[in-house]
Amino acid sequence: MSLLSTQPVWPRSERAVVDDVSANAERPYPVGLLLDGRRVLVVGGGAVATRRIPALLDAGADVVLVSPEVTPALHGLAEAGRIRWVARGFEASDVDDAWLVHVAVDDPVAAEQVSAAALAQRVFCVRADDRHAATAWTPATTRHGAVTVGVTAGGDPRRAMAVRDAIHALLAASPVDSEVRDPNDHRGTVALVGAGPGDPELITVKGRRLLGAADVVVADRLAPGLLLDELRPEVELIDASKIPYGPARTQEEINRLLVSHAQAGRFVVRLKGGDPFVFGRGGEELLACAEAGVPVVVVPGVTSAVAAPAAAGIPVTHRGVAHEFVVVSGHIPPDHPDSLVDWPALAQLRGSLVILMGLRNLASIVAALLTAGRVGNTPVAVVQEGTTAVQRSLVSTLDAVVADTVAAGIRPPAVVVVGDVVRVLQ
Ligand code: SAH
Repeated sequence: MSLLSTQPVWPRSERAVVDDVSANAERPYPVGLLLDGRRVLVVGGGAVATRRIPALLDAGADVVLVSPEVTPALHGLAEAGRIRWVARGFEASDVDDAWLVHVAVDDPVAAEQVSAAALAQRVFCVRADDRHAATAWTPATTRHGAVTVGVTAGGDPRRAMAVRDAIHALLAASPVDSEVRDPNDHRGTVALVGAGPGDPELITVKGRRLLGAADVVVADRLAPGLLLDELRPEVELIDASKIPYGPARTQEEINRLLVSHAQAGRFVVRLKGGDPFVFGRGGEELLACAEAGVPVVVVPGVTSAVAAPAAAGIPVTHRGVAHEFVVVSGHIPPDHPDSLVDWPALAQLRGSLVILMGLRNLASIVAALLTAGRVGNTPVAVVQEGTTAVQRSLVSTLDAVVADTVAAGIRPPAVVVVGDVVRVLQ
């Protein structure tokens, strides 16, 4: 340590000084490799390779995997033709056409052999077993649309991941994400986004990112309110349930709003409860936009048809119990001329019947099922506001569910599940 140092001088152990030296030697120069169509050699077919290869494929790399044995996941990729698997040990010539080599074997002698071959050909080599022996490091990464952030932390992967997680959280918070996104990205388009069944954490990652980038949000009554809480103050929020016309005119008005805001150059997110295409009129909105020449992206959502039962401990299928589940709308009574549902056929099913919008017509639906032969002691569950903080549910039978639902004061939105799956986990 020089006496002329302007830095404060602390008592240091030999070890600390040695660490400093290696940190200086290992100061990586960050690059973003464009691997599309380029050969990447991965040696080793275990857990490390299984974790690394998807990102290489995502970058378009031509992945060649050399290993006598591989995990089932890698085997699947090879069978699907996504990677080429050479089922043997490493040979130096494997490096020949590679732009990058990943060493994913535990055995240091085998790893050193690959490293040496890569070094001889001036091919960068990532070493999972020993980062100090590597000529390249893979950073901890996080992606948000077109933004990719890679973090290295002096070769300390845990620290890199912690910093990455912090950046990830920052980008996931909508205001920052909207600043870093390309402002022209989504202009003039409409995204039909499934908001999930109620728990604000059950929106998809993509849905949440697009919501954070929206200029205008048109939200449903069923879209989780907490998601709207996070919107930037300048975002125009249109509450579709407050549009002051009858139901038919309201849909026309929603379609008109989506088109006109998009045509004015804004990014419009149409936020819909559950999945946009499950009784959500998402198809109609998509057609209206398409007719006006407005581009649309559809982001599927977690539907209440599956999630509300799940939240009440009911799997809609279960081995040996139900090999089918049918999702049906109960908004029109079974005997109504407009009904498109074949209730007598549904009564013949052994599997699970999931009824949405069925509470108001529950008595006539149950009567139709009983008349057509579904037995009266068939288990039935009703789940109100599933996945939310105010979720309520009851378990009953086809015979008793109408009275039980009234007695419990269950109100919409609720999902009704008919079938033996109701009892498998109770
Ligand atoms: N697109 C939505 C369904 C719209 S139809 C989806 O995929 O979930 C509206 C009906 O969905 C409601 O009447 C109710 O039957 C059901 N529903 C929606 N959210 C619900 C929830 N959190 N719990 C129970 N049922 C729900």
